[in-house]
Amino acid sequence: MSQARLMDGTALARRIVERTAHRAAELTSRTGVRPCLATVLVGEDPASVTYVRMKQNRCRTANIASRHVELPAETTTARLVRTLRDLSADPSVHGILLQHPVGDHIDERAAFEAIAAEKDVDGVTFASFATMSFALPGFVSCTPGGIMRLLDAYDVDPAGKRAVVVGRSAILGKPVGMLLLARDATVTYCHSRTRELSSVVREADIVVAAAGRPRLVRGEDVKPGAVVIDAGYNAGNVGDVDFATAVERASLITPVPGGVGPMTIATLLEQTVDAAARQLAG
Ligand code: NAP
Repeated sequence: MSQARLMDGTALARRIVERTAHRAAELTSRTGVRPCLATVLVGEDPASVTYVRMKQNRCRTANIASRHVELPAETTTARLVRTLRDLSADPSVHGILLQHPVGDHIDERAAFEAIAAEKDVDGVTFASFATMSFALPGFVSCTPGGIMRLLDAYDVDPAGKRAVVVGRSAILGKPVGMLLLARDATVTYCHSRTRELSSVVREADIVVAAAGRPRLVRGEDVKPGAVVIDAGYNAGNVGDVDFATAVERASLITPVPGGVGPMTIATLLEQTVDAAARQLAG
């Protein structure tokens, strides 16, 4: 059997960011206003600090202004909610990203819900989940949205296909399943209590691995010719799929890194410009 074709998220993300930069510049020259993303970081977790810095750097390349709010680790839910409400009410901010996870002592859901729906460019609020689920216009969760763009770019039409999503987190597994369902896939969710994971995955035409477990999905679990999307990112640049064996059976597969990862930030930037365009149009 021939090896799967790689789904190049780096190249696709680059094209999206270039287009986004062009749209942002055009919006600024027309309105005099630069699209602005506010990032909010609680505490000093090194991975979160790196992610936020990456997002700010990418904003610059996309002609998007960024405003950064740093709060101490001991910030209360009430204080964080107040900060997010203030940013929601600030007309010079068009999109808001709360870097998560926040500390265990914070009610993360309450914080997400303090983000105005029209500024939820990371797609984390209940309102965004509802629009994703009902296939209505709105913001998508960034990683799931990036996955759908990758499928489209490689002409994978989910309609009628069996899709298996391994993972059911609020920001990744659940919304990507809803987006696939909205595109008429037959969707099965797997999670830590799923029995006989391998036999469920073996039925999939499209597998989305989003469990945060290194090499959980093995090549022998992949139906020959399936499309394999690996959203996992574990220590040592290892995904949730055993790439070396899965590449022998899949028809298309995302590498780690360079597959899903770059698409997440590209989607965030694109949605920030969408948000600014809508807000500036009144
Ligand atoms: P999460 O919140 O920890 O959720 C993990 C999900 O996987 C849970 O639903 C869990 O089930 C399920 N799971 C855990 N072990 C399992 C097993 N052995 N079999 C089947 N399901 C299992 O993680 P997340 O935030 O969704 O992230 C998942 C992965 O994606 C991580 O590697 C993360 O680094 C990566 N990620 C990448 C990007 C990107 O931009 N590329 C963005 C976000 C996340 P229960 O619900 O039963 O606990």
